[in-house]
Formats: sequence, structure tokens, C-alpha cells
Amino acid sequence: MSNTTCKIPRDCVGWRCGSCGQLITSIDDGWVEWLALEDVSGASVLRGVRLVHSGTARGRAPDYSCRYDYRKESQNNAGMVEGLARERFAGPDGLMLLLSFIATGEFSTNDILELAKRVQVPRYELSREIFPQAIACQAFTPFLGEGYYLQSEMKELLTWIAEEPKTPYWSGIRR
Ligand SMILES: [Zn+2]
Repeated sequence: MSNTTCKIPRDCVGWRCGSCGQLITSIDDGWVEWLALEDVSGASVLRGVRLVHSGTARGRAPDYSCRYDYRKESQNNAGMVEGLARERFAGPDGLMLLLSFIATGEFSTNDILELAKRVQVPRYELSREIFPQAIACQAFTPFLGEGYYLQSEMKELLTWIAEEPKTPYWSGIRR
């Protein structure tokens, strides 16, 4: 099975929008945003980081936006909406940007680690929601631990799904 070419359909490739739940199918359609607040000591705290559609998602009204509503957020949380285009998180410069986010300590480290895996590691976005079920069924034991999967492990899981769409994907995986 490990030598089989991955056959994930083209329309399944993309990133899950943190707002509407639909797929973001092009890097140009993605936007990474967060909320900037101040804690009681006046220090900057950045939270609510998420990857969303930059424009209008398919099937939504033209005036619907997946991005934070800056007016609503500033009223409710006294915070500011900040963000960058998804393409800024691609490649070596994107990795460096993510590392700088971790270094500042203003974001939740777990939030940035998850974002880094989603935008930097091939196949992670496609397999990240499937692995916990496969692991719970004891069909898979990731070498590095849950949430951190090797390319060979993701390729194996995704190949199984592509080849056996009507069979529970974890039932036939042998480790
Ligand atoms: Zn969306």
C-alpha cells in the first residue's frame, strides 16, 4: 500500500476555513487573521488565530465575509483585528514568520504550531482530522506522537481513504 500513488480528488485539496467550514482551494483565497488585545498589565495578547477565506466563499451571499468583523470585535472585545494573506505563510519566509510569532510569546504556542503544520507540511491539512479516529481505533500509532505525523504515515492513511472510500478507513490499516 505504501507504494501506491495518493489519489485524493482535486476538489478535496485545500484548507478548511475556520469560519464557514468550506474548503479554501487556492492559496490566493486564504487569509490568516487574529485578534489583538491588551491584558490587565497593558501587554499585547494575540488570540483567535485562524485561517479563513479572504473573500467570499462559494455559495455564500456576495456581502458575506468569513473574516472577523472588525467593528463587532472592537465593540465586544475592545480588540483589533489583524491579519496577513495566506501566501505570506508559504515557503521558508513563511516558516520564519511563524517562528517569529512563537518567539514573541504573544500568541498561544499551540495555535501557531497547528497553523504551521497546516500551512507548511504537505498532507497535514488533509489528514489531521482523520488521524485521531484512526488512533482511537488503535489502527495507527504515529511514530512521533499524536498531532505529529510523518509523510509516510499521512501518505498511507490518505491512500487508504482514496482507494477504499466505502470502507471505514481505519479498519484495514495494519501497523
Ligand atoms: Zn470561509
